[in-house]
Amino acid sequence: MDELHDEFITENMPNRVHMSTSCCQINCGGQADIAINIQHTKPPKINHDLVANVCERPTVVARCPVAAIRPALINGKPSLEVDEKKCICCGACFPPCPPMQINDPENSKLAIWVGGKNSNARSKPTFHKLVAAGIPNNPPRWPEVATIIKKILHVYKEDARDWERLSDWVDRIGWPRFFELTELPFTKYHIDNWHGARRSLNASTHIRF
Ligand code: SF4
Ligand code: SF4
Repeated sequence: MDELHDEFITENMPNRVHMSTSCCQINCGGQADIAINIQHTKPPKINHDLVANVCERPTVVARCPVAAIRPALINGKPSLEVDEKKCICCGACFPPCPPMQINDPENSKLAIWVGGKNSNARSKPTFHKLVAAGIPNNPPRWPEVATIIKKILHVYKEDARDWERLSDWVDRIGWPRFFELTELPFTKYHIDNWHGARRSLNASTHIRF
């Protein structure tokens, strides 16, 4: 993102823009106006030798949004197991427990989410919205990601009113216009029509940290 250095020193955006590279695919709307995050395509493989030394197992179990992680005894030692049929490959278990090895340079892609509850000044809390997915994981400079981010920032800068946060701007113009202005392809995969939450979302009363 050093390609955006000029934007940081000229401060010509309509309002502040937070960008995050650490959010997960839960897309709670967590930390930023624009979230660049890893789109995993396979469930985590567990390094059982490390779990006992590195992880607090109840924390990891509670972290999973679909209750796919269970405590287990592996070779007589306390560890964890993942129900791969339930796992949605969100990656949320990796930060509290690095032995949940889900990063995969070959198969993991990148996704960009926009908006969310920390991206507005006037409207009600919302989730991030997926705007681009399946972007190649191309280190060290991730040129495909940089191109999309610069495009989003460019149209936001041109089209938003003074002091309008990114999410408020999208609320005003509407998502169809957002995709039109940014020239990002809108596909059927952008439509959130999942209705399995009642059956599979983790409904425990654990407090998550
Ligand atoms: S749950 Fe995921 S999307 Fe929400 S703040 Fe945490 S890392 Fe970001
Ligand atoms: S937290 Fe996400 S990646 Fe980890 S087991 Fe649960 S659904 Fe799968």
